[in-house]
Amino acid sequence: MRNKSIVFVKRPEGMPSSENFLLQEEKVPTISSEEILLQLVYVSVDPYIRGRMNDVKSYVPPFEVGEAMKSGAVAKIIESKNDNFSVGSHLYGMLDWKVFQVSDGSGLFPIPEGLAPLSSYLGVLGVTGLTAYFGLLEIGKPKENETLVVSGAAGAVGLTVSQIGKIKGCRVVGIAGSDEKVQKLKKKFGLDEAINYKKSKNLVKEIKDSCPNGVDIYFDNVGGGVSDAVIFNSNNFCRIPVCGAISQYNETKLSHGPRINPFIISRRLKMQGFIVFDYADKYLEAQMQLGKWMKEGKISLEETVIDGFDNIPNAFLGLFDGKNMGKMVVKI
Ligand code: NDP
Repeated sequence: MRNKSIVFVKRPEGMPSSENFLLQEEKVPTISSEEILLQLVYVSVDPYIRGRMNDVKSYVPPFEVGEAMKSGAVAKIIESKNDNFSVGSHLYGMLDWKVFQVSDGSGLFPIPEGLAPLSSYLGVLGVTGLTAYFGLLEIGKPKENETLVVSGAAGAVGLTVSQIGKIKGCRVVGIAGSDEKVQKLKKKFGLDEAINYKKSKNLVKEIKDSCPNGVDIYFDNVGGGVSDAVIFNSNNFCRIPVCGAISQYNETKLSHGPRINPFIISRRLKMQGFIVFDYADKYLEAQMQLGKWMKEGKISLEETVIDGFDNIPNAFLGLFDGKNMGKMVVKI
């Protein structure tokens, strides 16, 4: 049996491509005392991975050229020399893009068998769900009948934010990048309105028409021109959880948008960035609530599943073309 790994071989400038990664074959590693051998089952691909490909200081260290890529993943224990971990059970956490890998279990979390689909620990019950939950509830502070606008609404975080917004009684307006996504947001997920930003000739006006009472909360996943248009429609005291800025991740020069500072002052907007780790001490409480909403059918697990270890880089690159609806995961 051979092992496979995907190594980071070149830092991208602008949009990443398959040239940044190398698929390698190697020997399956052996384990020592207190160690376990893991086999990947699902790998999460996420926009923040792009940030780690740059050699800059951030809230997580950059990837090192020559080393295996890493991301959130679910793995099965196939051999164990550690009494705390039994063969056949599953763990999730940050793992290398290596089909087989050795671990001592630190930094990994056990998955209770049979409670929820394994991939949901990378989606609604994982970082995605927690990001949506804390960003919206702790910073957005939604109240019944308020208007919530979500950018990246058909993506993993945005779709969960939109559904929690509906649970909290908001009028929810989603912004996404295709007619198919817009239809699904309205028909399957019950959003009140949805806008295709790629087709829009006048996004400011379309948002105004979709939000007759203005915008009370803007959950920002994308930044750039979409956010400028939403902020233009903000009400006084609008709350803006700034979650991500995917429209900027591949820019090689700083772009200049309309300056939003005058709006921030005159409308007393509250804009706050956050990283999901800020709420680490409340993860369990949030996972219980998200799991309950999933069980009650109030939050659906929407996924785009790509097959095969070798396709992890393509799945990641597809995020920048909007190839996913809901959470993008790779089934190994
Ligand atoms: P998604 O599942 O939303 O995938 C990315 C989506 O972004 C694509 O499907 C695409 O949808 C959209 N997109 C791609 N390029 C652009 C662009 N140029 N302009 C506008 N939209 C674009 O990813 P996640 O839900 O995992 O992440 C969403 C955001 O949240 C990201 O910015 C990410 O970095 C951030 N994040 C932040 C965290 C935090 O702790 N603060 C934690 C996790 C994620 P479309 O077809 O609509 O264009």
